Amino acid sequence: MIKVVKFGGSSVANAAQFRKVKKIVSDDPSRMFVVTSACGKESHEDHKVTDLLYLCEAHIRYGVSYEPLFELIEKKYRTIRDELHLQTDLDKEFAFIRSLMKKGVSTDYLVSRGEYLTGKLLAEYLGFTFADAADVISFRYDGEIDFERTDMRLRERCGKGGIVIPGFYGAMPNGVIRVMSRGGSDITGAVIANLVNADVYENWTDVSGIYVADPRIVNNPLRIPGITYNELRQMSYLGADVLHDDAVFPVKEKNIPINIRNTNGPDDPGTMILEDFGEADRTCPPHAITGITGRKDYTVITLVKNHASAEIGILRKMLAVFEDYRVSIECVPSTVDTYSFIARTENISHCLYDILSRLRDLIHPDVLKAEDNLALIAVVGRGMKEKPGISGKLLSEFGANTINIKVISQTADELSILVGVMNRDFEKAIRCIYDKFITEDLTIRKSSDFD
Ligand code: ASP
Repeated sequence: MIKVVKFGGSSVANAAQFRKVKKIVSDDPSRMFVVTSACGKESHEDHKVTDLLYLCEAHIRYGVSYEPLFELIEKKYRTIRDELHLQTDLDKEFAFIRSLMKKGVSTDYLVSRGEYLTGKLLAEYLGFTFADAADVISFRYDGEIDFERTDMRLRERCGKGGIVIPGFYGAMPNGVIRVMSRGGSDITGAVIANLVNADVYENWTDVSGIYVADPRIVNNPLRIPGITYNELRQMSYLGADVLHDDAVFPVKEKNIPINIRNTNGPDDPGTMILEDFGEADRTCPPHAITGITGRKDYTVITLVKNHASAEIGILRKMLAVFEDYRVSIECVPSTVDTYSFIARTENISHCLYDILSRLRDLIHPDVLKAEDNLALIAVVGRGMKEKPGISGKLLSEFGANTINIKVISQTADELSILVGVMNRDFEKAIRCIYDKFITEDLTIRKSSDFD
């Protein structure tokens, strides 16, 4: 059994968290490959090391002293090292980083130092080998990960014992350090899991898994015990902030389960993410819906043109206008002769009027309008497939609670139903869906237990 374990920033925020990590790793000898983020926030008022490093870089760029910021970072690492009685030579490490900062350092190099230093301390504390991600994770010149080369370099560094690899960065073919997008340590973990053919990729964070709905909106939502990769993709696209989107592909390819776990509650089983939960689940998943997610602040452009539905290529022509302005369209609900195009307001607001005038000149619509303040909600669930009555229930619940549906869309795979409501109804709509599909379902099950 091989487990790749990735610890997020909150799991390595201070010495106390390092102790929890050590307990988790030593409790299971199959946890041999450890990937770490940079130290995260210790408290609400604290700052993530990566954020501080980006700030230092901005100070260098504007010629302002970065010392007070850099001292905060230094203090964090020195405190962890001293409290855990480690020997890592931080004087040497910081002196080297400082010398580069004076000479001119690349942004990627500087912001990668959070993971690098956390990895160094963690490796010493666990008694594992430290493998610098610059010597393992290899990018091609197009910025994609070179799996073959990474595999080769990883094998060279694997010894008998465990290994700690900093997340978030790697090196270009010429050795120059390159970072991934924010939250990229999830990707590093997934790449390592793929290459070592892990039995499971454990992603340790500060929540006990993925919840059916956002706990800031729904009081005490249920934890999702199991979710498929496809469901997760639907959830995270619309805002459920669980895992870096690109972390799914390397593990999905080899059908390696991802287990989201809580460093502060290691006995909680967390959420399992898998391609498929088998035949029994296919015929009877736990609930019709797996999760509810959503996001506010979309703009919807609606265009009506008599007989447009009979015009071949009209949809392509309209979409090309959005493409010209590099605006990503999230969803295109349509009825006869009427099309709605939904985009995030922040992505379209700067060119909205240009797009409207281009559409007017190109299509000569009878009606063309744009509305803001739309929220999209996705009701996601592999259990909805071929189960009549789900959308009926949803619509009647919205009706009973006077929530007006502006748009609605579902594709034939029946994996999710997307509804658009006004921003002001967003939270209420999510709570309604949760009550109807989860709370009510649980109550029915409970009462049938007594029958
Ligand atoms: N430390 C990086 C960030 O804050 C990467 C990571 O934690 O995954 O985005």
